Amino acid sequence: MTSLLGTSPDPLPLEQELDGLAQRCEACRHCSLGSSRRQVVVSRGNPRARLMVIGEGPGAQEDETGLPFVGRSGQLLDQMLESVGIDSNRDAYVCNIVKCRPPENRKPTVLEMAACRPWLDRQIALVNPGVILLAGATAVEGLLGIKGGMTKERGQWRQWEGRWLMPIFHPSYLLRNPSKERGSPKWLTWQDLQDVQRRLAQLDTSL
Ligand code: SF4
Repeated sequence: MTSLLGTSPDPLPLEQELDGLAQRCEACRHCSLGSSRRQVVVSRGNPRARLMVIGEGPGAQEDETGLPFVGRSGQLLDQMLESVGIDSNRDAYVCNIVKCRPPENRKPTVLEMAACRPWLDRQIALVNPGVILLAGATAVEGLLGIKGGMTKERGQWRQWEGRWLMPIFHPSYLLRNPSKERGSPKWLTWQDLQDVQRRLAQLDTSL
């Protein structure tokens, strides 16, 4: 690539950029979570997908495996996405607000979320998703700085930096509220995911 300042190197392929990012995350000690984690949990899924799913942070199983959303909550999210035709590994790139597990699964602090934010910003810039699904209140707070009840936020589309954002209930909340009755959190989430699927289909047809 040539600019007025001379020749700059061609950008690296996406996968190589993301591998480099993952390696830098593995060495990161920018916040105190870096000293208690077993593994840094960066992402899973397809970095070329139009959908990015952002959760709060790794839990015990994620810390063990190094992959996000693989515990009971992740399995439920996968099932719900699958029910609207979205395969979380093929059709989505999955990551979290913080890359290291907060002890006792506590909510990450504002400082921890801020320390980890540059990694997330870089992931978003590289993957360049058209739609971002924010799973739970901490994901909404971590990305948008909004502290609000999920009952009000969920299901509401927002535009953010040229992308569509949809907040949904965190799947761990749905595990505690398993009713599928009309109007229940699970039913509402299913409506939200169908809406996400429709938005993705619209984006695909507008390409
Ligand atoms: S949570 Fe993020 S900022 Fe903190 S040590 Fe882990 S990778 Fe670094």
